[in-house]
Amino acid sequence: MPRQSPGQLDPATRQALVERVRFYRDLGLTEFYRRPVDPALLVSEPIRAEHEGAQPALFQPAPLKEDQPIPPRTPISTPPQISAATPSADRAAALQLIREDIGDCTRCALHKGRHTIVFGDGSPTARLMFVGEGPGADEDAQGIPFVGRAGQLLNNMIAAMGLKREEVYIANVVKCRPPGNRTPEPVEANTCSPFLFRQIDVVRPQVLVALGATAATYLLGQRQPLAGLRGRVHAFRGTQLVVTYHPAFLLRDPRQKKEAWADLQIAMKELGLKPPAKG
Ligand code: SF4
Repeated sequence: MPRQSPGQLDPATRQALVERVRFYRDLGLTEFYRRPVDPALLVSEPIRAEHEGAQPALFQPAPLKEDQPIPPRTPISTPPQISAATPSADRAAALQLIREDIGDCTRCALHKGRHTIVFGDGSPTARLMFVGEGPGADEDAQGIPFVGRAGQLLNNMIAAMGLKREEVYIANVVKCRPPGNRTPEPVEANTCSPFLFRQIDVVRPQVLVALGATAATYLLGQRQPLAGLRGRVHAFRGTQLVVTYHPAFLLRDPRQKKEAWADLQIAMKELGLKPPAKG
């Protein structure tokens, strides 16, 4: 297929390329592409203005409320039929059973405003799993986690780790979109998160990355500022858990991308992945 110049690309592809080049540049990676990158893709001011001017309202991790206790979670047992050697097809079937258990769920109030239950996406045998907070508008419409702008950034983060999106598994603490992208209430997160734990037990990832404070809080069962949880590996349900910023937060504050990249490199080390060469 003949190579297209940036001017020949459709707007969506061009925007995706701009996002990816910007992400690598923010990380200090300039030698990631084999071919030289067209300077026009290194974020011209008109593109930046268009991009930032069009930024939709994104959720911001809510400040942690010290006086709001986390209700006890429903204990979930590890399915005995899933082992490290369980093949992909069996795990896919186990995930499908969880989805069937969820059904047309009305277990918490979030069902009232949703269009689609966003179950999860990716490889049932992924070595790396990402957990976010909950679906946004794009995810609610498409039924797939992380497909909006934050999803594009997550895709770039995954690619920078040397992986493809289809090689990882992605899910959220709650499977229905909170109204206005607000943070899920504790009762909502605790009602829904047992399904997430079952997904984790089926996929059995080697490394789990919690994206943002809500995911970290409900995975670890402790409410702490993100700063106290980042930068180290936590043991969780037989996996190594790493905490980093939510991509939506990184869109709002791109200066934190380097910090997020440092977190991802902790995950890469656990997975035995080598970071790409620095420029
Ligand atoms: Fe059910 Fe989870 Fe949706 Fe609540 S968020 S209605 S528990 S699927």
